[in-house]
Amino acid sequence: RKGTAIITGASSGLGLATAKALAETGKWHVIMGCRDFLKASRAAKAAGMDKDSFTIVHLDLASLDSVRQFVKNVRQLEMPIDVVVCNAAVYQPTAKEPSYTADCFEMSVGVNHLGHFLLARELLSDLQSSDYPSKRLIIVGSITGNTNTLAGNVPPKANLGDLRGLAGGLNGIGSSVMIDGGEFDGAKAYKDSKVCNMLTMQEFHRRYHEETGVTFASLYPGCIATTGLFREHIPLFRLLFPPFQKYITKGYVSEEEAGKRLAQVVSDPSLTKSGVYWSWNKNSASFENQLSEEASDADKAKKLWEISEKLVGLA
Ligand code: NDP
Repeated sequence: RKGTAIITGASSGLGLATAKALAETGKWHVIMGCRDFLKASRAAKAAGMDKDSFTIVHLDLASLDSVRQFVKNVRQLEMPIDVVVCNAAVYQPTAKEPSYTADCFEMSVGVNHLGHFLLARELLSDLQSSDYPSKRLIIVGSITGNTNTLAGNVPPKANLGDLRGLAGGLNGIGSSVMIDGGEFDGAKAYKDSKVCNMLTMQEFHRRYHEETGVTFASLYPGCIATTGLFREHIPLFRLLFPPFQKYITKGYVSEEEAGKRLAQVVSDPSLTKSGVYWSWNKNSASFENQLSEEASDADKAKKLWEISEKLVGLA
């Protein structure tokens, strides 16, 4: 039978390119979890995806109710769930003020981490009950949250501190809107959320890999400088960033190539190792990459897990 992969944020960029790459193999049906149904269906059509190769299901990660409803709706499709890809993200580098999810969490961490945390926790039992030979839960990470790299050292650096802001609810009322308790900084909030993504993947691995047989993985697909992720950046940045990445850092990767990389992590029979953060070298060969000290801190991962559970109503 075909495999079924859920991809969040499949209406543009990496998520769309991955959906397309999987659909084209004829071996996958993609459930596109998207907040804008019309945009997603137009994007799938423009990408040339066969209409039988995907199903769009509404998902707004900025609302925990929407996440729960998405899980119900997906179950009603009565398709097995073989792979889940947590890909959607928001990045607000120029925001002066924080914005909030429906549950009153700062938006970047609320969408990129907390929404996905609830989604992944809810769908774990579905993955477990699938009879697919290689079941996977993939959380897209980033080099920018990784302070052991050059790109991860561009200020403001990711730093979760002692998680006091998160423990306080990240709402700017009783607590800071930043995980470490500091002042709002949109670029840092994004990087922090990506560290959360990488810590969460490893904590899933420690808690559930043996018991469920599910492979947990994260990846840095390369710098896809052309995606909508940079839509809120100043125009000059958007103009110069792609050539800068292409010719200066040479970290640039096209949406198509990045989509193939993520599709590999979804389906390649050789990438079954769990607890791994994949990257690709210049020749586009995948390798197991090292995470920064903070992004591989097991105590922090456990603490993050426990606080996140409370915030999303699982504990
Ligand atoms: P895009 O902005 O193109 O894609 C992000 C997707 O997330 C869009 O489909 C967007 O939906 C969706 N999304 C945003 N908010 C929500 C929400 N509240 N609920 C549901 N979906 C939402 O960016 P990329 O493709 O670049 O980013 C994809 C992933 O890749 C992210 O995890 C990012 O961190 C990661 N990444 C990107 C890199 C890059 O260089 N671009 C580098 C490293 C990692 P909509 O279409 O409706 O806006």
